[in-house]
Amino acid sequence: MPKLEKRSWAEPFKIKVVEPLHMTTRPYREHALLEAGYNTFLLRSRDVYIDLLTDSGTNAMSDNQWAGLMMGDEAYAGSENFYHLEEKVREYYGYRYLVPTHQGRGAEHLLSRILIKPGDFVPGNMYFTTTRLHQELAGGTFVDVIVDEAHDPESLHPFKGNIDLHKLESLIERVGADRISYVSAAATVNMAGGQPIAMQNLRELRALTKKHHIRVVLDATRAVENAWFIRQREPGFASHSVAQILHEMCSYTDACTMSGKKDLLVNIGGFLALNDEDIFEEARNLVVVYEGLHTYGGLAGRDLEAMARGIDEAVQEDHIRARVGQVEYVGQRLLSIGIPIVQPIGGHAVFLDARRFLPHIPQIEFPAQTLAAELYLESGIRTMERGIVSAGRDPETGEHHVPKLELVRLTFPRRVYTQAHCDVVTEAVEAVYDRRTQVRGLRMTYEPKYLRFFQTRFERL
Ligand SMILES: *Cc1c(COP(=O)(O)O)cnc(C)c1O
Repeated sequence: MPKLEKRSWAEPFKIKVVEPLHMTTRPYREHALLEAGYNTFLLRSRDVYIDLLTDSGTNAMSDNQWAGLMMGDEAYAGSENFYHLEEKVREYYGYRYLVPTHQGRGAEHLLSRILIKPGDFVPGNMYFTTTRLHQELAGGTFVDVIVDEAHDPESLHPFKGNIDLHKLESLIERVGADRISYVSAAATVNMAGGQPIAMQNLRELRALTKKHHIRVVLDATRAVENAWFIRQREPGFASHSVAQILHEMCSYTDACTMSGKKDLLVNIGGFLALNDEDIFEEARNLVVVYEGLHTYGGLAGRDLEAMARGIDEAVQEDHIRARVGQVEYVGQRLLSIGIPIVQPIGGHAVFLDARRFLPHIPQIEFPAQTLAAELYLESGIRTMERGIVSAGRDPETGEHHVPKLELVRLTFPRRVYTQAHCDVVTEAVEAVYDRRTQVRGLRMTYEPKYLRFFQTRFERL
């Protein structure tokens, strides 16, 4: 991996508006955690000090984006802000057609309904929770075709988001190309620890799928972060701009689903973008049923405007350097004190390896869920489980999916916390690590049917 640039990642902004944080005592947090059933998703935000639950919709908008809110054209049809967004999507992502949706899963829903027939297969580079669920609800079966290194938290492979083309080829041989709806390619791969996919891999994926007439759909939610990693790690890209790399990545795919709540620096919004006119016609028709008219897709005009402006800001070099640099900073500090984390350090989050952190807790006692609860107790910092609870159950057998990765995600909202907050986070993780042998696992007391990690309740063993 190339050496870090000499200049530090210092925040490329100054602060104009502040929001006070809430500090709490340990007995207070003990009570709050009990009330929340040991699930950090069920905590009230007022009880949280530093919120690293997710980087989804938790970004700080710029003054330019806030100004854009005032330019909201709240027309039911044909809002100016839609056309601005369309122009920006074409400019930076390169797809011809745009269908706005209220957030990423809205786009996944439309696309899954249109492209997946019951009995189809949808290969992907590791699953994402909402993406896979929409594929399954449409009658498809998700097949993981990510490289094996992605399942190994200690592998230093620079592109652990890559698709294993042999796995994909053998699936095509086994079920036939016409039963594969499309290949779902995520950049970066959240569930693998924020790991990028290489440009070379996208090129080869394109060549293989072209031969079999299979579409490629990019999950572009964090594609800008992926582009940054390509520039840092892949030969031949050091002198390309992040925007150029992003454009080339998209050029090897037929469509993308996007959660604007991540890369695009907004609090709500998403879209489906694509090149195929027939599919566009269908999506534009369906969006009216589920989201709203095709020029607003469930969003206010002002939200479309903030997202259009966010597209410009997301690819700015100073921004993305600091965004990934902040995550790198926390990861390096944790590594330096011996905390087991997923490597290489991801683009949006540091992932604690709960198996190595709490080796005495078996996976069925939810070590990652336990660790997230302990971190909250220790410090008021909120993180999220990405392990057996998030993996859910097999819809056929009803058994737990048992993922190899049992992780706790410390996710950094964009432009929200400072380096001093980062230091507090590492101190809190270290404090839990020092008393790790006394930590006990959890037992489920309530489990909802869909996306269970959001609402499952637990008690201490
Ligand atoms: C967040 C996310 C989604 C879903 O988007 P929402 O806006 O939360 O509906 C899809 N894919 C990836 C990789 C994500 O991180």
